[in-house]
Amino acid sequence: MSAQKWLFTVEPFEGELLSSWLTRIAKANFTTVVGLFSQHWAGKSYFNKDIDIYEYPESFWQTLSECTDVSIERIQQMRLKSYEGYIQETINGKGKQRWIVTLSHDIKYHQRERGLCYCPLCLKENAYYKKEWKLYFVNACTKHCCFLESQCPKCGSPLASVYSLEDQGMEFCFKCGANLLDRTPIMIPQYSEGLKAIRRLLSIAKRGYFILNGRWYYSMSYFYVLRIFTRHMSHASYWKKIVQNDLKRHQIFPEQFTTRQMFRIIKRSVELFQNWPYQFQYFFKRRKITNKPRILEKYERKNNCRDLPFWFLKPLEECVEVMRPLSKGEVESIKAYLSKNEKLTAKRFAEITGYQWMSGYRYLK
Ligand SMILES: [Zn+2]
Ligand SMILES: [Zn+2]
Repeated sequence: MSAQKWLFTVEPFEGELLSSWLTRIAKANFTTVVGLFSQHWAGKSYFNKDIDIYEYPESFWQTLSECTDVSIERIQQMRLKSYEGYIQETINGKGKQRWIVTLSHDIKYHQRERGLCYCPLCLKENAYYKKEWKLYFVNACTKHCCFLESQCPKCGSPLASVYSLEDQGMEFCFKCGANLLDRTPIMIPQYSEGLKAIRRLLSIAKRGYFILNGRWYYSMSYFYVLRIFTRHMSHASYWKKIVQNDLKRHQIFPEQFTTRQMFRIIKRSVELFQNWPYQFQYFFKRRKITNKPRILEKYERKNNCRDLPFWFLKPLEECVEVMRPLSKGEVESIKAYLSKNEKLTAKRFAEITGYQWMSGYRYLK
């Protein structure tokens, strides 16, 4: 038996995000997304998921397609899952995502830096939210050359169109009702390198490959390495100084930066791919980022660097500390020497072996 169609349905816009489309359908039917969901999926906790990323069962997509007369393929294109295999290996509702802004259902109650982003000028043209605005590397609109906004201009809360009331337009804050179009867009020079970087990243994500020194590689490995660069770029003290003006607290993770800060961080990270591999090697050496385990995230260490692309691993090896691990016997004899002749401290241990202080500390534990 096929599902009963919703009274009114709307065509998805090009590049529209699933939750945006569902919100527009709900409004067309004079209800909210919760109301819409309760019609076919009552009793199931489908609504309090991040709709754009959650893995609903096959039957859900089937019903959604029947309710709206829009093909399953087209619906799937509106999901963030469509980036799977292009920017990340897996995209699902589980855990932290490398490049995707997730929207926990508690956004209603907790203050977060970033929810759904929007370009005030795009929203003015057509009241819908784009899929690409959910990507961390998209921090500006390449069409209108202005920064994306991630918060309500009036109450400062992160946005989530799915929570808006039935009689509220798409361009209003779900929390305080302010008009998001009241925000004057902050313009960026048309030929800015930051905009170029976003265009480049979007095109790599779409094509599925990129070219480095005349050779083709899968796009996923690019985004893998870009994430590593982005993390170190945001750590770098230089950037702390640059973004200091609007820093609210000590920020370490890329997720915690605003779109304006991320725009600059992404631009600088993309630049590290230029003149491969000298630019990135220079950056790491100059910043004294030479400890390989610290350069890589926990995940890579756990996998023994198995997933690290070789085009990155090889030049990386050239600029990190080349140190062989000490044997048990060596550690014992240095410890015995220090205890007998001097004081046994991690600092002295490190000095004798040539390791960094932290490594010395680890050996003594
Ligand atoms: Zn725009
Ligand atoms: Zn508001």
